[in-house]
Amino acid sequence: MKVLVPVKRVVDYNVKVRVRADGSGVETQGVKMSMNPFDEIATEEAVRLREKGVATEVVAVSLGVAACAETVRTALAMGADRGVLVETEVELQPLAVAKLLAALVRREEPGLVLLGKQAIDDDMNATGQMLAALLGWPQATFASRITIVGAEATVTREVDGGLETLAMPLPAVITADLRLNEPRYASLPNIMKARKKPIETIKPADLGVDPTPRLRLVGVAEPPRRKAGVKVASAAELVERLRLEAKVI
Ligand code: AMP
Repeated sequence: MKVLVPVKRVVDYNVKVRVRADGSGVETQGVKMSMNPFDEIATEEAVRLREKGVATEVVAVSLGVAACAETVRTALAMGADRGVLVETEVELQPLAVAKLLAALVRREEPGLVLLGKQAIDDDMNATGQMLAALLGWPQATFASRITIVGAEATVTREVDGGLETLAMPLPAVITADLRLNEPRYASLPNIMKARKKPIETIKPADLGVDPTPRLRLVGVAEPPRRKAGVKVASAAELVERLRLEAKVI
């Protein structure tokens, strides 16, 4: 079984995100970019499935500007076998990504598409769901455990009330949550080996998809700054302040 893992290039999670002065988005110039953390988890899971002999090949795909090839390369260093870069300068929104992935799925015919549950840049949490809908495949989102036996996947999902376990036939779409695994660090030998692994570059037109955005970004603003804290002298003063300022009790 082939596993397709979409990996997105996003602002590194350690970077303090800054909004552009004109409110047109988040500043990405000169900012460290990395693989979306949930996609590292999805890559790790796919590689573990191959190591267990459940998967035969792991294909990592990134969609976006030419620099997304670095993100594919990171997945290859973690153990993916082969990469695809769908290169475009157009700003990609989840529906366009899902359509491009659906076209790639028809070409690659994987038994499983394993995505991150959400990209930490725009927190859409939509691509996996849209992809499953476009393909007419079963889906399990927010996976914290995945077991595959034969042509069936059993997935434990993290839902509000606790854990939910679903069984579904493959092919399917699964999105990875935080507790699914601890992704490995790529070792130096594996980083070197990854340089020799193939990355195919294609354009959206090669997949017959028009990636033009459908949503218009109206504005992006930083959250209001928090006011500085104050020290109180006693519990009584604290209660009094809570009563008057926080309007509780
Ligand atoms: P989102 O729906 O944007 O929150 O993204 C959910 C998941 O879809 C991510 O964790 C990735 O696995 C995948 N994804 C979204 N956009 C891209 C992209 N441009 N390239 C590769 N994967 C993507």
